[in-house]
Amino acid sequence: MEWSGPKIVRRKSRQIKVGNVLIGADAPISVQSMTCTDTLDTKATLEQIKRLTDAGADLVRVSVPTMEAAAAFKTICAQASCPIIADIHFDYRIAIEAAKNGAAALRINPGNIGSKEKVAAVCQAAKDHGLPIRVGVNSGSLDADIIQKFGSPTPEGMVMAALRAADILESHNFTDYAFSVKASELNLCVASYEALAAQTDAPLHLGITEAGGLTAGTVLSSIGISWLLKQGIGDTLRVSLAADPVEEVKVGFAILKSMHLRTRGIDVVACPTCARQGIDVVNTVRQLEENLSDVQDNLKVAVMGCIVNGPGEALHADIAVCGGGKGKCLVYENGKIQGKIDAKDVLTVLENRIRSRISGNDIKNLRIL
Ligand code: SF4
Repeated sequence: MEWSGPKIVRRKSRQIKVGNVLIGADAPISVQSMTCTDTLDTKATLEQIKRLTDAGADLVRVSVPTMEAAAAFKTICAQASCPIIADIHFDYRIAIEAAKNGAAALRINPGNIGSKEKVAAVCQAAKDHGLPIRVGVNSGSLDADIIQKFGSPTPEGMVMAALRAADILESHNFTDYAFSVKASELNLCVASYEALAAQTDAPLHLGITEAGGLTAGTVLSSIGISWLLKQGIGDTLRVSLAADPVEEVKVGFAILKSMHLRTRGIDVVACPTCARQGIDVVNTVRQLEENLSDVQDNLKVAVMGCIVNGPGEALHADIAVCGGGKGKCLVYENGKIQGKIDAKDVLTVLENRIRSRISGNDIKNLRIL
């Protein structure tokens, strides 16, 4: 058994249910994303939702900016491959319409919904349809009096905004809510979640907002989210990237997998390559990840360029290949050497051994030399 450090002890949060997905308490930490298509274009939005769920998304959020979009939202919810969360700002009537039209949850900021009567109407609609609400506090849209009090967005101000919103919901006897306190400044974001986690047992949706493009956003999100997860904080997450949202799901799962909080699909260990490599590691890994993106079973696969570190990694992998020199490649299963193959066949053999292992059927014509 590979040493993987102390187990993370999760914060004791209460549980909510978004469609068929449980969030909080001991439920698996769910991965969310958000569509970036025009909600009125239901075909494109449904296609994107499908790509997101194929990548593993448990939940998808869709913006509903107008009443017209709320009508399109009905079609989307009816045909979507996972529960859909309606993202609503400003207009309480849209929130009510989205609740009627099949939303699995509402993401609102009670502060920008308006009068008590309007918030009460949204709470009633959520209750009528059994929907939880996520209170989404964002450092970029804190209430003016909070900014005035603290001078700029601070963890105290973020927590005040969240608890103030919860007070509004609770004044309408609505307790089925979760929080997020997102900021693009990493330390502010993490400190806000830490402070809020100490003051509520509501589930927390993690995310570093407006984190940037694929590389910068992945780094920022990975640092912030893992920092919180390591403390047991976080019940669901969204990695926000200015990129194809499928990347958000991939990065979200990569974070959870690296912290041993969830498993999904193939975990590939690969060396960074150098002049010693006896197989094409980079292209093998790229192609393998692409070809096996449908696989949900968890297997650890090592793709190693040569025998310097290959046999060591192979010991801890379900299946491993290791460049063996002279155009050959060693194949391992469960740490034991199975034989040699031609280096040019490495992708085919690996893919078939993995599928064979998952299906339990030995695929013919794949005998190792
Ligand atoms: S395993 Fe071999 S090929 Fe890969 S980086 Fe290490 S020395 Fe280089």
